Amino acid sequence: MEIATSPESVKEILSKASAPVGFVPTMGALHEGHLSLIKRSLAENATTVVSIFVNPTQFLPGEDLNRYPKKLDADRRICELAGVDLLFVPKAEDIYFDEDEIKIKAPPLKGYILEGYHRPGHFDGVLWVVNKLFNIVSPDRAYFGKKDAQQLFLVKKMVRDLFMDIEIVECDIVREPDGLAMSSRNVYLDPVQRERALLISKSLKRAAKMIMGGVYEAVSIKNEMRRVMEGLEIEYIEIVDRNFDKIDEVKKGDTIILVAAKVGDTRLIDNLWV
Ligand code: AMP
Repeated sequence: MEIATSPESVKEILSKASAPVGFVPTMGALHEGHLSLIKRSLAENATTVVSIFVNPTQFLPGEDLNRYPKKLDADRRICELAGVDLLFVPKAEDIYFDEDEIKIKAPPLKGYILEGYHRPGHFDGVLWVVNKLFNIVSPDRAYFGKKDAQQLFLVKKMVRDLFMDIEIVECDIVREPDGLAMSSRNVYLDPVQRERALLISKSLKRAAKMIMGGVYEAVSIKNEMRRVMEGLEIEYIEIVDRNFDKIDEVKKGDTIILVAAKVGDTRLIDNLWV
């Protein structure tokens, strides 16, 4: 496995690499969720590139940028063992130049609801860095998790809106055996919080059961989910279609149920694709 820290060396290495190139952008502290994206890219491409970059521009003031978990040695080993071809680990100054850069703006509607409402400007930073990373790596395919459903939607929208020649591959959510969605931020949870965090995936399981039982009304499902999550600080529970428009009735094959909640100081998100 080659390791590059500068955009120039990534371009140099990839100029000699075999196509197609698959790309998995991450913020590191890799877990099974990330690994599932990496494995899929390895299976579908001749060359797989993984990036690890804790992107400062997608964190709001007061968020966990400075304490975001860093496990570079372990991450390097995971990538090496998996068979990744190139690991890109830039520093902020390799990616951002000065205060007067050209910026990418998330769409004013879909980029500022739900996650974008609670973290205004977050998706501006996400799309800005994904754009830069796409230009550095020039992948044929890029792999994103459904765990970050709105991010996935917006990256797909950016690729379409800006006529980018990249296939975005949607990857299923990987969960702990008890149902908790894997996340680098789960390490923030103490054992009691870890137990309470389970209510999030439990509420989604309850929603799935209701839908299987023929209940499609969004209000009823959301009320029941709120009941299951009692005691957690819920930021939102929302039911949208795959275009991220709010809906009153679940439509099978075209629905995502989204949750964001805080357990202690830790903000967790999860969702269910129906
Ligand atoms: P992150 O390092 O949190 O920025 O995540 C990097 C990529 O991994 C994103 O596309 C995430 O959606 C994806 N990802 C994170 N957690 C999971 C998970 N539990 N299952 C599937 N994909 C995930």
